Amino acid sequence: MSDAVPQRTRSNELHLKACERTPGGVHSNIRLAAPKVFFDHAEGAWLWDVDGNSYVDYVLGQGPNLLGHAPKSVVEAVHEVSEHGLILGGQHSVEIVAAESVCKALEWPDMIRFGVTGTEMVQAAIRAARAATGRTKVVRFEGHYHGWLDNMLVAPRDGVWGVASAGQLGSHLDDVIILPWNDAEAVAETLRLYGSRTAAIIMEPVMINSGVIEPLPGYLERVRQLCTRYGVVLIFDEVISGFRLGLAGAAGYYGVTPDLATYGKAMAGGYGVAALAGAAELMAPFGTGEITHAGTFNGAVPNMAAVAATLNLMRDDPPYDHIAEQGTTLMAELRTLAAKHAVPLRVAGLPAAFHISFGDPNTVVTDHRTLQHLDLARYEEFAGMLIDHGIWVAPRGVWYVSAAHGPDELDETLARFDKALINLL
Ligand code: PLP
Repeated sequence: MSDAVPQRTRSNELHLKACERTPGGVHSNIRLAAPKVFFDHAEGAWLWDVDGNSYVDYVLGQGPNLLGHAPKSVVEAVHEVSEHGLILGGQHSVEIVAAESVCKALEWPDMIRFGVTGTEMVQAAIRAARAATGRTKVVRFEGHYHGWLDNMLVAPRDGVWGVASAGQLGSHLDDVIILPWNDAEAVAETLRLYGSRTAAIIMEPVMINSGVIEPLPGYLERVRQLCTRYGVVLIFDEVISGFRLGLAGAAGYYGVTPDLATYGKAMAGGYGVAALAGAAELMAPFGTGEITHAGTFNGAVPNMAAVAATLNLMRDDPPYDHIAEQGTTLMAELRTLAAKHAVPLRVAGLPAAFHISFGDPNTVVTDHRTLQHLDLARYEEFAGMLIDHGIWVAPRGVWYVSAAHGPDELDETLARFDKALINLL
């Protein structure tokens, strides 16, 4: 690729065409902020657009492609079952295989319900917590994302967290308490005041959506203790961290067990599956009909085959050491490049998911508030330049590393990143 901005003539044409029938030309608002590139195909850790430009992919479809694009054995398993029916309106034995594989991989849950999106599984988790406790309040945290529905979607306005979308009912947040994350005392004080009315605490156990911020030592343990003491259901939203930090997700990685957890993204090799897992006493009421959870496409045969095949792959040939090695090398090399050009770039987080922003690399970032000490807007602009140089990244600064990233992908990424930095100066 030349140093000039790549031609995206065909993408631009398609985007205009798409806008005729689709608001913004996209089917998820998360994609509104990114350049409107139309892709032709993908393989491994690479994407090619309709104009022939190549990109090393660090978005991974917003996370699902942990094993790289279209992992062969997963695609084959899906094709095989698909020839014999897609949605049967009853059960298929592959559901049992998928449920068993997921519970075994995670180690802690007894039972699982499958759905299609993380958004809906979060709702099922909250409903189960309210049903079990007979309480209404839910504690959640600044900067964590739990889907786009009215009771979970929040954004800050003039320092106050509240509704984020036109048409969203503020009253749906009446029972939601929003706290800064990584502050165990804030949780303790809230439960001291509202513990008897609080059904659940929900969090991303590592705040990947905002800055890839890890829990401070002892934080998850303390929140776990507080939940147990006050009879509050602890929900880990592992839609991103699940199967990414290891087979047992963040719960296994940090050694703290929730009561319920939601999964999605990486669990099905790119197919659309999400899940709620938990202890039998919390999950069983779904089976008696006491708590409602439904969905036409839940447990669809191809999706269940995708889960089973993905879990097979991850169990038989765990990608985690490789991802950790590649991610660690990449983070170090990106820091070196930034230092070479004297660009104040901060690269922080986990090897499987890290965050890049402008700002002092030594800035201490522990929550959404301290994240604002970095120059996130400048990175957002730079992300556009990285895309122009053939690195597909998200504007919010989160980079995902997959099993398909290897030395060749890293070399190419660093060469392209170097050019983008030169362009910046
Ligand atoms: N929870 C977390 C932590 C997420 O990151 C997301 C999506 O990015 C969701 C829930 C919602 O999942 P979905 O987009 O599948 O509805």
